[in-house]
Amino acid sequence: MTRFSFDLHATDGAARTGTIHTPRGEIRTPAFMPVGTAATVKAMLPESVRATGADILLGNTYHLMLRPTAERIDRLGGLHGFMNWDRPILTDSGGFQVMSLADLRKLTERGVTFKSHIDGSRHEITPERSMEIQRLLGSDIVMCFDECPALPADRDRIASSMRLSMRWAARSKDAFGDRPGHALFGIQQGGLEPDLREESAKALVDIGFDGYAVGGLAVGEGQEAMFGVLDYAPAQLPADKPRYLMGVGKPDDIVGAVKRGIDMMDCVLPSRSGRTGQAFTRRGVVNIKNARHADDPRPLDESCSCPACTGYSRAYLHHVFRAGEMISGMLLTWHNLHYFQEIMQGMRDAIAAGRFAAWEADFHATRAEGDIAPL
Ligand SMILES: [Zn+2]
Repeated sequence: MTRFSFDLHATDGAARTGTIHTPRGEIRTPAFMPVGTAATVKAMLPESVRATGADILLGNTYHLMLRPTAERIDRLGGLHGFMNWDRPILTDSGGFQVMSLADLRKLTERGVTFKSHIDGSRHEITPERSMEIQRLLGSDIVMCFDECPALPADRDRIASSMRLSMRWAARSKDAFGDRPGHALFGIQQGGLEPDLREESAKALVDIGFDGYAVGGLAVGEGQEAMFGVLDYAPAQLPADKPRYLMGVGKPDDIVGAVKRGIDMMDCVLPSRSGRTGQAFTRRGVVNIKNARHADDPRPLDESCSCPACTGYSRAYLHHVFRAGEMISGMLLTWHNLHYFQEIMQGMRDAIAAGRFAAWEADFHATRAEGDIAPL
């Protein structure tokens, strides 16, 4: 049986390209993971998600534990079969979404108790319970249970939260046990404080994980502060293990993170924006609801090979969005996911060829041109 492993193929500056091997298939890095919150990437069939170039999906522990519950998914054979996606799945620990979605949260050394945002029922997540839920789901890459304070927060709060997360990381590792073919990732915390980030990295490396996430970013600090942390944080983590930046981001966030040594990312942005009429293109964001597209027979992006761009005009995409037709979200989500995967493939090729700087310059120059002029 294939064990979980990571091969680094090439580096260019701090940027890296490689392959994560899992029993359920390979993950080419840098990798973008579409988010399948409730066991579906909204508006997309799993085979369509695969066709965009995704090697791995992300599932949300918090949502799945509440509905339909991890125990039910386990009885039905696990998340892969349940949602008809046989390739790798990464699950988050539930911690972040308890903090952002649940009611009446109570945080103790033991874990977090909270009320479901769906029906008000009471639940508890501890490091041990998070590991159990992610095992019941059948997750290939399991995340440690951690606590992530919203930024800005004062240094004492960041430090005590980080140290709690490190104690929970050790408990997560103990509870995870030895599961060949499955990986457990630790999560670095420490806010915007270099020394706390270093302390967190050392604590995680002492415990020993299959990969490491840079956590606690994309929580309101802004791109400049995030890049400030990414200028040093990835280098604090082992070079021979995958590095994952959680919840990022917009195309230019993704490119900036890869430039600074990040291997994996996830974000709801391409799928969520696809349902609100926003398309990400090489030339920046296009709002398809805008009246300027109503008579425009041209595709969203003439160089894009996705179904939305090869089969439909801007006028059609504008019409179905205005009419509230489901195909609107389907086509724009497909396009957005396709575009994000195209960025990842472009970066993988550029890093392998040692021309990442030129690729990045072209990426920014094309965006700066803006959308094509109205007819
Ligand atoms: Zn397209």
